[in-house]
Amino acid sequence: MAKIIETDVLIIGSGPAGYTAAIYAARANLKPHLVSGLEPGGQLTITTDVENYPGFGEVIQGPWLMEQMKEQAVKVGTEFHHDIISNVEFNNNPFHAETDSGIKFITKSIIIATGAQARWLNIETENKFKGFGISACATCDGFFFKDQDIIVVGGGNSAVEESLYLTNFASKVTLVHRRNTLRAEKILQERLFKHPKIDVIWDHVVEEFIGSNEPLALEEIKLRNVNNNSEKIIKATGAFIAIGHDPATSLFKNKIKMDDENYIITKPDSTETNIKGVYAAGDVKDKVFRQAVTAAGMGCMAALEAEKYLAENY
Ligand code: NAP
Repeated sequence: MAKIIETDVLIIGSGPAGYTAAIYAARANLKPHLVSGLEPGGQLTITTDVENYPGFGEVIQGPWLMEQMKEQAVKVGTEFHHDIISNVEFNNNPFHAETDSGIKFITKSIIIATGAQARWLNIETENKFKGFGISACATCDGFFFKDQDIIVVGGGNSAVEESLYLTNFASKVTLVHRRNTLRAEKILQERLFKHPKIDVIWDHVVEEFIGSNEPLALEEIKLRNVNNNSEKIIKATGAFIAIGHDPATSLFKNKIKMDDENYIITKPDSTETNIKGVYAAGDVKDKVFRQAVTAAGMGCMAALEAEKYLAENY
């Protein structure tokens, strides 16, 4: 039989937004329940050095920061569930949500903090070599590419940070970007251009990943020049795709207002969605800032708004 949990606040997601919402809701005595999702800790658990989260004089590690946030949330009274929400109904308040393990939540408010996921190139040969040379997580997989030549695809902060990080393992890192300027922060660009192990190939996109079948292993990458369509093949046994993210909102499709890129829409200066009592915080609603600290700030806002809603309506 399903376990039924009645609560004031259900938080979905365990990145900086979710944990901060949990800390504030718990300290407001709302006894929140937080369902972590597949990757507890979210995107920061697949990053390494964090030097822009305020409060730390020394460089800290992303996974460690998320462990601290979880510990803090639980310590102040959050009920943590390592589980996945499989269905949610916003039709009537209290709302209903079900998890993979069979819990049924009946909740007066919901804070959506499901974050975003890495984007793939979606070319045919990419799937074939995923896990056999192709990865979207340098922190997770960089170690496997010791003394190898690898490429990183993308031109944002992630691509540049991953390129720099991967120099710890690889013999050579080639950044492949589809334009002739990077959108990464200037300070990161400077580090990239100065690095003796990193080359940049401008104005190129990946056409094909080529390798052996037995064993399945990436060996070469066919690139196409976007200006004149000429093609060239470079040798690389690893490829890291760092081309941005998509919000994790499939669970809420047709149930809540989203924009054309599937980010949840909230009211200006607020985390309130089009449904009263439902709030969205962090990367699931933010495609501009996407920082741990802004996500945490939005988590705080969501908890304060939920608290106000509960006080006024219950
Ligand atoms: P991003 O800033 O959106 O950059 C994505 C990059 O991938 C862009 O350069 C884009 O090219 C390229 N791209 C997108 N689709 C592509 C495709 N199909 N084929 C080839 N290239 C493609 O994503 P991000 O680097 O993941 O960063 C996301 C956000 O997180 C940003 O706001 C960033 O500042 C932030 N972030 C911050 C830090 C930090 O502060 N330490 C670290 C990581 C990320 P175009 O430039 O041509 O569009």
